[in-house]
Amino acid sequence: MVNIMKNERSLVYFLITICLFCFLAGSCSQNTESTSFTAMNTYMTVKSYGKNAAAANALVKEEVERLEGILSTTIEGSDLYKINNTDGDEESEIPVRTETAYLIQRGAEFYKMTGGAFNPALYPVIREWGFTTGEYKVPSDERIRELLQNTDFSPVVECPQSITRPAGLQLDFGAIGKGYAGDRAVEILQDAGIKSALLDFGGNIQVLGTKPDGSDWTVGVKNPWGGEPVAAVKLHDACMITSGGYERFFIGQDGKKYIHIFDSTTGRPVENDLESVTIICREGIYGDALSTALFVMGLDKAIEFWQQRERDFDFIILTKDKGIVYTTPLEKSISLLFDFDSVRVVE
Ligand code: ADP
Ligand code: MG
Repeated sequence: MVNIMKNERSLVYFLITICLFCFLAGSCSQNTESTSFTAMNTYMTVKSYGKNAAAANALVKEEVERLEGILSTTIEGSDLYKINNTDGDEESEIPVRTETAYLIQRGAEFYKMTGGAFNPALYPVIREWGFTTGEYKVPSDERIRELLQNTDFSPVVECPQSITRPAGLQLDFGAIGKGYAGDRAVEILQDAGIKSALLDFGGNIQVLGTKPDGSDWTVGVKNPWGGEPVAAVKLHDACMITSGGYERFFIGQDGKKYIHIFDSTTGRPVENDLESVTIICREGIYGDALSTALFVMGLDKAIEFWQQRERDFDFIILTKDKGIVYTTPLEKSISLLFDFDSVRVVE
């Protein structure tokens, strides 16, 4: 009897030792890896937690660089370069890779959904203003009118799978490229067994899972007036993507500020009372498309759009008169860190 108890006790000690060993071994392999690189004209950081973090981050970098080679408007040999540099007055059939076909298909979906506020066919106009070359200028009204004639994305919307390019059509997926790359990155990390990661693709934040300790990530909303973040949002398995007029713009000879987000109807940079639009949702490509589109729409239309979309995303809009407007589900997760002149919660 005494012997059996003794044996049982040794067994318990043995099991405790095994458990302790496994726990320690497990926690030693939970390393954190941060990888930064420049791609898609921006600085990108991937921070992953887990056994394969370093290798997974390397795969993400490789994939983002590969996507850039397909989607860039300036790299010769990219699909977009091919589409945009095919001359001729006739419609032409252009073979493209599956990634480009996917972006055309999703681009068509967002173009329709936003009533043209998101329009990847605005490229000829945006280029004329100098936003791709850095040689900024304000084109004449006549030149803008002329270029606007080729910015109808509807023929492509009709049949987004086929890449029959109407004469003169030129595309740019600058407004969704980083969000799409973020989605691909999250997939790659998941396939590598990573359960917890934070991506910062030039201010586009995408998080996989929660923080390693199981709590939500806290992500700041950038201060467009300079200084510390104006708000913080807690999230997991989500993206938080901002479009604003305060980072990429030029000042014309007339002293006016011209930003890099364009209005399809005028062919001119958006001029409204918004400072930035931040979208919070699951899918990066959707968040990226909507941050641009809601910025173009302006406050009232953006609110209406959210109310009609059955709340499949949330937004935080900062207005030039130091106001903040956000959607009601965010009340649970947002903390305001700035002395706003007005705070409005949209139902
Ligand atoms: P950022 O790239 O600075 O994060 P956005 O996601 O809002 O910001 O994308 C802006 C880019 O999208 C512009 O630089 C331009 O290439 C393109 N763009 C500008 N206006 C539009 C628009 N109305 N629809 C689609 N793309 C646009
Ligand atoms: Mg965008």
